[in-house]
Amino acid sequence: MAAHQEKKLAQERKHKPTQNDTQTSQVQWGRAWEVDWFSLASILFLLLFAPLIVYYFIMSCDQYQCSLTDPLRDLLTGNKHLSDIWNKTPTLTYRAAGIYSLWVAFQVVLYVFVPDFCHKFLPGYVGGVQEGAVTPAGVVNKYEINGLQAWIITHVLWFANAYYFHFFSPTIIFDNWIPLLWCANILGYAVSTFAMIKGYFFPTNAKDCKFTGNFFYDYMMGIEFNPRIGRWFDFKLFFNGRPGIVAWTLINLSYAAKQQELYGQVTNSMILVNVLQGIYVVDFFWNEAWYLKTIDICHDHFGWYLGWGDCVWLPYLYTLQGLYLVYHPVQLGTANAVGVLMLGLIGYYIFRATNHQKDLFRRTDGNCRIWGKKPEYIECSYMSVDGTKYYSKLMTSGFWGWARHFNYTGDLLGSLAYCLACGFAHILPYFYIIYMTILLTHRCVRDEHRCSSKYGKDWTRYTAAVPYRLLPGVF
Ligand code: NDP
Repeated sequence: MAAHQEKKLAQERKHKPTQNDTQTSQVQWGRAWEVDWFSLASILFLLLFAPLIVYYFIMSCDQYQCSLTDPLRDLLTGNKHLSDIWNKTPTLTYRAAGIYSLWVAFQVVLYVFVPDFCHKFLPGYVGGVQEGAVTPAGVVNKYEINGLQAWIITHVLWFANAYYFHFFSPTIIFDNWIPLLWCANILGYAVSTFAMIKGYFFPTNAKDCKFTGNFFYDYMMGIEFNPRIGRWFDFKLFFNGRPGIVAWTLINLSYAAKQQELYGQVTNSMILVNVLQGIYVVDFFWNEAWYLKTIDICHDHFGWYLGWGDCVWLPYLYTLQGLYLVYHPVQLGTANAVGVLMLGLIGYYIFRATNHQKDLFRRTDGNCRIWGKKPEYIECSYMSVDGTKYYSKLMTSGFWGWARHFNYTGDLLGSLAYCLACGFAHILPYFYIIYMTILLTHRCVRDEHRCSSKYGKDWTRYTAAVPYRLLPGVF
């Protein structure tokens, strides 16, 4: 509904002359066409080391009680050799391969074969068939938005098993965590490689493909914009949301079950991590239609960065706090627990309210109220590949008047809360906030570079009106 309305508005605005006509940027928006040396070096580094980084974190919990320095110390002092660590690492097992195949197949079935019914009875929820944003080639894709339903069905079955059927132990994920890591890697590499081959030989939309001529860059950042199989199986929507994000809350539940099994109780820090990350996950699925308008879907092509990242990086590294708490069951004092909860909720509020303001503004084409007033904005224009001219607006009111990415600031506050729940004994649970700070700062710069190419001088006017990126007065 929202997407349809936006497309209609966009079409109405097509060809409508404005005073900014001469400032319209040419079709340079979307992923980069040329690869600079820094990007190439970063990509080679990530392709080589990202799988090792994930392995190192998980191994250090498995073999070193989540200490990141002890394995290094052992290796540097000759106390242990790489082969000692490797030999102690659980291998791929048939059981894990079976669990993982069933899991992914089940999510595919929920995604492709079970049309959304949640939007029929949940007031305010936007599900069912929705339209995405206009791609650089001028295509508007349709999506079946049924992630919330997939999440609910999966979790109902999980709880039914845990409390009633007992087909498997709720600690199953924790108990097979490293064998499952091999499976996730196999799927991550398989899907990224398939996407690359598909981009060359049978792309879904050839006009939305980008080839830089650099094999590694194309493999990492993707060639196809919206690869699909058939009419509905969209790689980006499926891999971004499921199996990774549906699994996120199950993984945390499995960690909580393991704490219960090992210590006879679940600590308040584990409950906080489950609740705060649970809110974030449910929010993601509740707003899945809105998600069609975020950078991942609107601007990123589908390559290893999204394919492998969604299969391995996200489920393994975004859940480190819960994993850490299995090895270190932190029980926070009441004041600290309340502090963590408040920080998490404030971060979530800022994140959600900022995203909501932009969504409302864009959906209504500025005919709404932000903080009780008509929003202020800057008119801008851009062109798609086929030369069609579009008009858009950049809001300068509400949180969008405070900073150009205050939604990232809220996200970072929430991320910090998950880490603080784990206390200060180890650095490992703080990986998340360090990573999110790098990710979102880089994303901010990347997005602004793209917006600057897309909107040209209109973007310069916008940055003059809203000079800060994340923190008013600071950055
Ligand atoms: P945004 O939702 O901020 O979208 C950026 C886009 O919004 C721009 O490209 C531009 O697109 C448009 N825009 C920018 N400024 C304005 C404005 N003033 N008024 C109207 N439109 C504007 O970014 P993301 O898609 O990156 O993030 C969405 C959310 O997801 C964020 O809250 C982020 O924190 C979260 N996130 C979480 C991640 C995680 O791993 N946990 C990873 C990435 C994101 P256009 O071309 O349409 O003008």
